[in-house]
Amino acid sequence: MTVKVESTLRGPQAYGLARKVVDRMEAAGVWPTPLNFELWTYALGQPDGALAGEIQRMTEAGEPFTEAVTDALAAQHLPRGRLTDQIRDAGQVLDRELSSVSSVIAEAQKSQAAYGQTLEQAATSIGAAEDGEGLQTIVSDLTTATRQAQHETESLEKKLEASTQEIVRLREHLELVRRDAMTDALTELANRKAFDEHLAAACDHAETEGGALTLAVLDIDHFKRFNDTWGHQTGDQVLRYVASVLGRAAANPRFAARFGGEEFAIVFPYESAAMVEAALESVRREIASRSLRRRSTDDDLGAVTVSAGFAVRRRGESASAFLERADAALYASKRGGRNRVSCAERLPKAA
Ligand code: GH3
Ligand code: MG
Ligand code: MG
Repeated sequence: MTVKVESTLRGPQAYGLARKVVDRMEAAGVWPTPLNFELWTYALGQPDGALAGEIQRMTEAGEPFTEAVTDALAAQHLPRGRLTDQIRDAGQVLDRELSSVSSVIAEAQKSQAAYGQTLEQAATSIGAAEDGEGLQTIVSDLTTATRQAQHETESLEKKLEASTQEIVRLREHLELVRRDAMTDALTELANRKAFDEHLAAACDHAETEGGALTLAVLDIDHFKRFNDTWGHQTGDQVLRYVASVLGRAAANPRFAARFGGEEFAIVFPYESAAMVEAALESVRREIASRSLRRRSTDDDLGAVTVSAGFAVRRRGESASAFLERADAALYASKRGGRNRVSCAERLPKAA
């Protein structure tokens, strides 16, 4: 089934299919993101397939194609484990190049040894040579052997050069795959996996180096209500907008991530609590002051607000305990009326 779509995509009929895909996506009100485009292409390429059936059912039932739904459809229906396949393929190429490099080295050792033997024999023969003619033969043999050794060295160098280039190309490719696996597709911020790794490393670093480390968690207020009023597509635009504000506020060495649905996190190394609080306040104010407009209809959506909580890492504290305290501060902001920033260190003891 999959094979059929793949071949349909590589023929003259592919343009017609692509146009049809875009029309259908527009009719269904979904954005032509790469993932949506892929999903709809597969659905239209196999009109009798399970994916097409599911999309039709959802369309008829008026169910929205949210990012979470799209992800689930992709995981269930698109050719499986594309990332795993890419990593496996890259691993195989790497294996091949490494064994080619080691056989090149083995060949080089063998021909070096043979050349060494020729030289040794020549040294013995020179001692035993009785006349000029004998010497001439030895010198001519030596010249031939030296030329051959030179030639072999050159061809081995070429092989090594080719292998090196292939390994460099492979490393770049793996880096791209790795970056993809660490990025949230909707907002292009770091994803949860990248965040977990970053926070663990930052905690280790702070522990050994003793530098300050602060963690903030932010959550969009009443986002469910927003989605219910304006639809998930518009909700997705808001997620992108909030992410862009956070991304700008969290330039290196700060680190922003989409933590979950409408939750974000920022890691602040080497900053005082006052600096972090000022940065979060400025993000909160910027988001609250912006009146949003829906792109498709220009409807005035009003403003969204975010609540934030932050904690300063204690010596010896684990990443999960740290996160829990930042979360507690976020919930203090929610309880306190939302659209505010709270600090874990200033929460009432009983909280
Ligand atoms: P609170 O102020 O207490 O945070 O209220 P809330 O409505 O924001 O919180 P709740 O946890 O009840 O709802 C979160 C909503 O976020 C539910 C879901 O509709 C929405 N959401 C989560 N992920 C996505 C997404 O990827 N896209 C869209 N459009 N909405 C999402
Ligand atoms: Mg929320
Ligand atoms: Mg939430």
